[in-house]
Amino acid sequence: GLFSQAAFYTTVNHMKDLPLHGGKEVAFVGRSNAGKSSAINTLANHTRLAFTSKTPGRTQHLNYFSLGNNNYLVDLPGYGYAKVPPDVQAHWEHLLSEYLQTREELCGLVVIMDARHPLTERDQGMLGWFAPTGKPIHILLTKSDKLSRQQSTQTLRDVKEFLAEHFPQCTAQLFSSLKKAGMDEAEAMIAGWFSA
Ligand code: GDP
Repeated sequence: GLFSQAAFYTTVNHMKDLPLHGGKEVAFVGRSNAGKSSAINTLANHTRLAFTSKTPGRTQHLNYFSLGNNNYLVDLPGYGYAKVPPDVQAHWEHLLSEYLQTREELCGLVVIMDARHPLTERDQGMLGWFAPTGKPIHILLTKSDKLSRQQSTQTLRDVKEFLAEHFPQCTAQLFSSLKKAGMDEAEAMIAGWFSA
């Protein structure tokens, strides 16, 4: 699979330190606790991969994983964590917005949202930063195992309806790291971005 060779590559805390790999990257972002690390680990079939990103001192960094073929997955810092000091928050906002708006190697963004409360204000802010690039965005509505089939179907429909109106380049799907559901769809989407 696309992620089967995933291995930690580097960690970055300043725009000037972004790697000059000349390849393509896909970034994962989401509200803290939405399930981003679990989703990355599930896709990579690896329980410790995104663990690196939770190492104290690295949580506010951009963590790069090499996927082979000069393709990279970038685990972006989670947002909305309450106890972040204002200076750290300001640095984070700057780094993330600069990265999303200017990184040429970035060919698509995966946004992780908890299926029980998708499209928070911060989530929409993130979409708003990246949407003007015109590059594709794919939303994983994760923890879908916590919803009934009917609830998850309705959630997906509502999210798609919102996206069609406000962020037409955005796609969305249900995902569950617990049940390993939605992996093929997510992988196919990301593989398509790398090969475009
Ligand atoms: P992150 O902060 O976005 O990286 O979130 P984590 O991946 O660390 O997940 C936060 C919490 O949600 C953890 O307790 C996970 O076990 C749980 N979690 C993550 N994904 C799922 C899922 O698909 N289903 C369920 N039921 N729990 C999940």
